[in-house]
Amino acid sequence: MSTENTNRLKSLDALPHIDSGYNDLHYRKEQDLRYKKALKKLLTGKNEELFSELQMRPDLLDSLEMKSVFILCQLILGKEVKERQVFPFMRNEFISDSISKTIVDLYKKIYMQVDLPEGTKEAFNAINLYSIKEVLPALVVYFTDLILVEKLEQFYDQAFKVLEDKEFYEKLTEDDLKTERVRHLALYYRRKGDEAKADEVLLQYRELYLPDMTKPVKLKKMPNTKFYPPGEVLDNLGELYQEIKDIQAEVCEISGVNNDSCMYFECSDCCHKDYPILYYSEYKYLVQKMEEDGMDIEAAKADARKIQAEHKAKYGFELPVVNKHRPTKEDCNPYDFKFSCPLLADNGGCGVHQIRPMMCRAYGLSSSDSRNVQACNYYLRQHQYNSNSENIRYVYDVRPYVAMIEASDQHQTEQDFGEKQKLCGTFVAWLSSDY
Ligand code: SF4
Ligand code: SF4
Repeated sequence: MSTENTNRLKSLDALPHIDSGYNDLHYRKEQDLRYKKALKKLLTGKNEELFSELQMRPDLLDSLEMKSVFILCQLILGKEVKERQVFPFMRNEFISDSISKTIVDLYKKIYMQVDLPEGTKEAFNAINLYSIKEVLPALVVYFTDLILVEKLEQFYDQAFKVLEDKEFYEKLTEDDLKTERVRHLALYYRRKGDEAKADEVLLQYRELYLPDMTKPVKLKKMPNTKFYPPGEVLDNLGELYQEIKDIQAEVCEISGVNNDSCMYFECSDCCHKDYPILYYSEYKYLVQKMEEDGMDIEAAKADARKIQAEHKAKYGFELPVVNKHRPTKEDCNPYDFKFSCPLLADNGGCGVHQIRPMMCRAYGLSSSDSRNVQACNYYLRQHQYNSNSENIRYVYDVRPYVAMIEASDQHQTEQDFGEKQKLCGTFVAWLSSDY
């Protein structure tokens, strides 16, 4: 072996050992298993057993999740959570923040989704996470958020007391967390129905908080709860529209956005140039309701025919009702022809506000792809300036409604025309058609 080679080997030996990844993976699996076992004990009421085990083996508290389970276990048992149990070596505010988030997430899951055994349930419901705010100060922000967003009304008074404690928030390490006090205070007032106070506080928030445009926006979807089989959607379309309205109102309330922005800004801009497309079931529902309510559908049809004549004169054809899966606006209005919706009332507002279709409702803090928010600038700017430090924006998801209406269309067209179709078009196309 040459000298050169020996040196080379020596230098290779000196390199740190490179882990194949197996040990780390193995450790994580064990860690996960331990956490699941501990969580099971907590959820089945074996808290005394869990407490003794974890008190004897602090080495098992090797993840945020295990620490969270241990803290909740102690709170269920009414024990005092000590700082050294959470930070055995030294405090670390970054870790404190992460543990706070993890505890509140776990608390939320258990609170909302788990049916705890008798005894444990009462003890769990009596937990006051604010009681550990001296050990984990950032927890105040996440717990207050949970209380106000999920409407845990039994904690409203405690939340308000904490929100009034400006000095406590001033001690938080992150400026963004300090300003959350003001945003939450505004939401608290809204939840209590004091709109004037909420607006006043929101103005303060906008002075304190400058949105960070460089941070990616995280969309949080508010879930829908109503589902109907295809044959029942048409009869329950009003219920679905009502649910969309309720979710939108909730999204606006949480986000500090004016739910009546269109009226507040006296705007009907999108009804003059951004054409919602509607599905067969929705058109059927609209006509049925307009007739029931004695509305002048013939005037709207006459308007639609005039618009069609203009379109035909310009492009040689009329705006179509298309039979296509997931048609786009371009399919329904290929030349982006500008017209005012034939259902606009003389006062400039929507003439069918209560029964307007889904796409008109969806234009305001909804999402159909989990990435983009469907809304105009009036909504988006408010959304942006009332956002929080994590750039979380609440939206509602229109996809479950689209899926239900599409399924309904298949059912309705089969009944009405003997074959399944996917019909979609602008108001003008529908109102001037023979459908
Ligand atoms: S959604 Fe926006 S653009 Fe459309 S009418 Fe309302 S405020 Fe105006
Ligand atoms: S139905 Fe109403 S909300 Fe929808 S585009 Fe027409 S006027 Fe506007």
